[in-house]
Amino acid sequence: MDINRIRQDFPILSHTVYGKPLVYFDNGATAQKPRCVVEKIVEMYESFNANVHRGVHFLSQAATDKHETSRITVQKFLNAKSPSEIIFTRGTTEAINLVASSFCRAFCKPDDEILITAMEHHANIVPWQLQGDITGVKLQVAPINADGELMLEEFEKKISERTKLISITHISNVLGTVNPIEKIIEIAHKHNIPVLIDAAQSVQHATVDVQKLNCDFLVFSSHKIYGPTGVGVLYGKEKWLNAMPPYQGGGEMIASVSFEKTTFNELPFKFEAGTPDFVGTTALATALNYVSEIGIDKIAQYEHELLEYATERLLAIPKLRIYGNAKQKCSLISFLVDGIHPYDMGMLLDKMGIAVRTGHHCAEPLMRELGIDSTVRASFAFYNTKEEIDVLVSGIERIRKMFE
Ligand code: PMP
Repeated sequence: MDINRIRQDFPILSHTVYGKPLVYFDNGATAQKPRCVVEKIVEMYESFNANVHRGVHFLSQAATDKHETSRITVQKFLNAKSPSEIIFTRGTTEAINLVASSFCRAFCKPDDEILITAMEHHANIVPWQLQGDITGVKLQVAPINADGELMLEEFEKKISERTKLISITHISNVLGTVNPIEKIIEIAHKHNIPVLIDAAQSVQHATVDVQKLNCDFLVFSSHKIYGPTGVGVLYGKEKWLNAMPPYQGGGEMIASVSFEKTTFNELPFKFEAGTPDFVGTTALATALNYVSEIGIDKIAQYEHELLEYATERLLAIPKLRIYGNAKQKCSLISFLVDGIHPYDMGMLLDKMGIAVRTGHHCAEPLMRELGIDSTVRASFAFYNTKEEIDVLVSGIERIRKMFE
């Protein structure tokens, strides 16, 4: 991969902050956008702006065509069987809320269980708790070991006849752990339990093939895979989506409405009430085509090199401790340096032009498990370089000396 050429595709990467070249290591929170994505958004508003699905006029049909072609791009990207299995949402969070609400209403009774892991993002905890208040479902939580890996045997022991769904992150946004989802799906299906994969941190780093995985649901956010904010994807097997009631009511999701009774549209529209973000979905398709052209496998390989380099260099810093040492790990590193509060570290790195994330990373239960409140997290994308990692390392060294 020609990183210098790739970096030129991302206008923001040549910016400076506080007079220093920007080193952007907050990709786990949101990724930067290539020029083609930004240009697609402008093109959509300048040349194709009209409401989709409803109009007979030229522009409406053109916008609809763009939006539905984007659905096919997503279908192909995930290797789903049919575009009807691709539901556009506002993001991972809304996609999990959709499944939690519709799945629990259709299939759960009081004291049924949803099995998650100790490393989930709040987006894969709270929607189930909200459903607990309505349908009486309860959370079961599978533990992790000291390296931040899921304990598979303990995980299987948590499965019972009350387990109705297993909902698990593919890659932890705090630890970088890559969960053995193939194995988990196999175990779950042995017990006839469907599986939802939170792929918010994985589709941009690894090839995800929903038919090969045989997962029942999979969700991700456009903004983390170089697409625009405000758009996300729910993949669901047709048999589940057909059996689940609509999530929200409104235009587009209906077949016919009267004051007495409403019937619902077919998939995928049954789950897409209101005007969709057709500009966003079209720009997401542009982002997916962009990364596919580079090749997710190539991206993964290069990011792994960055991870190995950064791990080695960071571990050489005295008093620095990395949280998350799974054998299968993705390109992000959470760390703490003894005697330096992560917020101080984050703010001082910022003054050097280095953007990292500090805090609990929307995973408070995991933080409690680790016995800490927060970490500093550097998360790498394929446009990052070893030179930027060197800048981070010398920044941390400088800050460490200031605190000595
Ligand atoms: N799950 C994981 C693993 C995440 O990292 C995130 C984003 N930090 C989410 C869910 C939520 O994604 P979004 O805010 O885009 O809905």
